[in-house]
Amino acid sequence: MSFTPRISLTVIVFVIICLIAACQKDTSIPAVSGTSESGNTAQVVSNTTGLQATNTVTATTNSSETARVNTSAAICCKTENVIIVVIDGARYSETWGDYTRQNIPNQFNLYFKGVMLNNFHNMGTTNTDSGHDAISTGNYEDLENNGHVLPQYPSIFQSFLKSTGKPAEKAWVVASKDKLQILGNCTQEDWKGKYMPRTDCGNNGLFSGYRLDDTTVVHAKNVLGRYRPNLMLINLKDPDYFGHSSSWSNYIKGIQSTDENIRDLYDYIQNDDNYRGKTTLIITNDHGRHLSGVADGFISHGDGCEGCRHIQFLALGPDFKEGVGFQTPYEQIDISATVAKLLNFKMESSKGKVMTDLFK
Ligand SMILES: [Zn+2]
Ligand SMILES: [Zn+2]
Repeated sequence: MSFTPRISLTVIVFVIICLIAACQKDTSIPAVSGTSESGNTAQVVSNTTGLQATNTVTATTNSSETARVNTSAAICCKTENVIIVVIDGARYSETWGDYTRQNIPNQFNLYFKGVMLNNFHNMGTTNTDSGHDAISTGNYEDLENNGHVLPQYPSIFQSFLKSTGKPAEKAWVVASKDKLQILGNCTQEDWKGKYMPRTDCGNNGLFSGYRLDDTTVVHAKNVLGRYRPNLMLINLKDPDYFGHSSSWSNYIKGIQSTDENIRDLYDYIQNDDNYRGKTTLIITNDHGRHLSGVADGFISHGDGCEGCRHIQFLALGPDFKEGVGFQTPYEQIDISATVAKLLNFKMESSKGKVMTDLFK
């Protein structure tokens, strides 16, 4: 008779322990936010060489609005450094939208080490300063495109430096276009003139003119080697610069030469113990160019046509899936939130969402 309560108590304690263990197990499972559909493979990424048959390419389709909800659990992050390369004004139809990938062979090789989005857009003003502003601050602003106006909101650079307390030299903007020096500061009270990153833009800073992309890459590598920054944005100008010159062949050469620059930067990361295996590389655009038949076509940009809005996104690093193309409808402003997640700093003024489904 005296055994019954003791057995009941033992059973209850056992059940409680089991429930606690089950709960802990549940929370350790990363949230699944997408549905893998291998049937989309051919539409998303096709390898026309046929030499990469062993690479499994799947497409994650997630068109519902829930895809834009930040469901991030404790799934991140091994990334210690983020390098964003912005290829200025390359239209999607000449980069990832051309399924031969003939103009971007180096990036196509990198794709098998990372993720790409085929539904990624600039939904704000499709000019250089506004596009870079959206990437950096997570806000769409219609800035004068001449370097005379600062963004309103703090950038990933300022937010990173404030959150971590690190010195300015740990965050950099290195740009072929001098007017991108505006990315180093903002007008918001409590931020203006504070936590500013180092900048190396144009020939010699704001209003000094554009410089060669090859020079920008040399400067970027020198900065990486000397200052060991954790966060860097690099602007390469050639597709945009030559597009405006009305030369189709030079515009295409600009896309190809920036693709070579990307390989150069990737090789640098791989050969540097400080960066190899700890660095996320993001390659994107500030804007595209008009579709053929819209205004003057590839020569310029700045409106809301699909050619101007549709841009590329390729990311690789220790936290990203490998060889996966996504159709999730992300936007330019989502880069800032994702970078903040990767480097674990606060980015309260960003309107973007963390791209959690791209993470391992
Ligand atoms: Zn332009
Ligand atoms: Zn357009």
